[in-house]
Amino acid sequence: MAKQYEVVVIGSGPAGYVAAIRCAQLGLKTACIEKWLNKKNQTVYGGTCLNVGCIPSKALLDSSHKYLEAQQHLDVHGIKVTKVAMDVALMIARKDKIVGQLTQGIKGLFSANKVDGIGGTARIVAANKVLVTDAEGAEQELTADKIIIAAGSVPTDIPPTPVDGDTIVDSTGALEFQETPKRLGVIGAGIIGLELGSVWARLGSEVTVLEALDEFLPAVDRQLAKEALKMLTRQGLNIKLGARVTGSKLGKGARKTVAVEFTTADGEQKAQFDKLIVAVGRRPYTDALIDDAVGIELDDHGFIKVDDQCVTNIANIYAVGDVVRGPMLAHKGMEEGVMVAERLLDKKTQVNYALVPSVIYTHPEIAWVGKNEEELKAENVEYNVGSFPFAINGRALAANDSEGMVKLLADASTDRILGCHIIGPSAADLLQQLVIAMEFSASAEDIGLTMFSHPALSEAVHEAALAVNGHAIHIGNRRKRK
Ligand code: FAD
Ligand code: AMP
Repeated sequence: MAKQYEVVVIGSGPAGYVAAIRCAQLGLKTACIEKWLNKKNQTVYGGTCLNVGCIPSKALLDSSHKYLEAQQHLDVHGIKVTKVAMDVALMIARKDKIVGQLTQGIKGLFSANKVDGIGGTARIVAANKVLVTDAEGAEQELTADKIIIAAGSVPTDIPPTPVDGDTIVDSTGALEFQETPKRLGVIGAGIIGLELGSVWARLGSEVTVLEALDEFLPAVDRQLAKEALKMLTRQGLNIKLGARVTGSKLGKGARKTVAVEFTTADGEQKAQFDKLIVAVGRRPYTDALIDDAVGIELDDHGFIKVDDQCVTNIANIYAVGDVVRGPMLAHKGMEEGVMVAERLLDKKTQVNYALVPSVIYTHPEIAWVGKNEEELKAENVEYNVGSFPFAINGRALAANDSEGMVKLLADASTDRILGCHIIGPSAADLLQQLVIAMEFSASAEDIGLTMFSHPALSEAVHEAALAVNGHAIHIGNRRKRK
């Protein structure tokens, strides 16, 4: 007989596991189905984020940053380091250990919250029926009052560079190199391409990033994107804009190289790499997930169609995370998971899509929320700009980490903060102060009147807010814009 649940969640990435835990906390009998298997063929929870996304990439970014610090930036502190060497295999093993610890943690959270974690591939066969096939091929049917789809996304491939998992890899393969490639090509200067390119550039790869668009980081405030391009180029990333990859040819022999063809304004070009990372975006993953008879609608890009509350066109089926519209970010999916769980209990929870923070974890980090200058101009909004450079922030100078700036945009008549853009040390954490402030509709003056600890990086946020209204104490710039 089919096992009965009030809620069945498909997928245990950040959107799915958070939705499942919140449902169970609210007293609903909940199962979460996950098909991900580790190298030992055991079910692992946590999805892309924990296994091959946010966490492993940050582990490698942190390891490679420490290596670079030890190699190049400790002498200014008077620390003499004579021999710095990198054991790539050990770095990868450390990353795997962190992944293991966190994925195990989700298992613990499931049992603490009484979520039934079920290993297997789920298929929705009717509006309240899910068929689960485990790794051995055994099937079980679950009935569910409500189904939450959180099946996530997978890397996109492009025909010119088919991934072979060895010389040509996607983001997952780029987290597994056992040695530093001498010449590394990266296709795509998006967040993932820049983060992974940075890891291997710090460890000594000659990195070339091929980006089809002429504009660098089009979603980022132009001033910050320009700064970021300069900084990353100084760090050794050879970023070629307007370079569309059109073909590739693998070499012969045990250690294959790859010849990549691309076109630029100057015509056809070629480059030879030892490894090539294809980082051209991700697509929603709905392969073999829903029987046609169920009638769930997808949009033109393959995302499951949902309304603002993540309800699909079938009233008892919801979808959250990367499989639906909006930025493909773990925290966006988590909040959608919470919203759906709480709405099942008739709470009025909403996700504020206007305030989804974005971060690029290069060094320095690039983080932003709300509107940028280009968007405000396009919307004809009058605004004031306050900015403050880390170069005169005491804490940043003490840490020898003082590149970048904080930039705040506020409505010219109400002073309400409309956007915050930071490139600099700990930008992700600094930005969060503004995300909270903006959730409460704060004005720049509110931030200016708040006391900040001294010395702290967040004083740059304080000064930028003061600068919006021309009150910055330690310089800071104010601009009026229409
Ligand atoms: P996923 O995490 O993709 O999880 C979906 C799960 O569903 C998977 O485990 C999958 O196996 C399972 N599943 C799918 N179909 C079925 C089925 N039929 N039956 C059973 N199980 C199924 N985001 C950030 O916010 N910050 C970052 O720093 C960041 N860094 C990233 C770095 C990299 C290299 C990558 C690739 C991504 C990064 N992301 C980051 C994006 C982030 O990982 C995703 O936005 C997030 O994982 C999406 O969560 P999700 O729960 O929607 O889907
Ligand atoms: P994102 O979607 O942010 O992960 O970024 C992926 C990037 O890859 C985008 O900026 C695309 O313009 C870029 N891209 C996609 N296809 C190609 C290609 N054939 N050659 C070079 N860049 C590409």
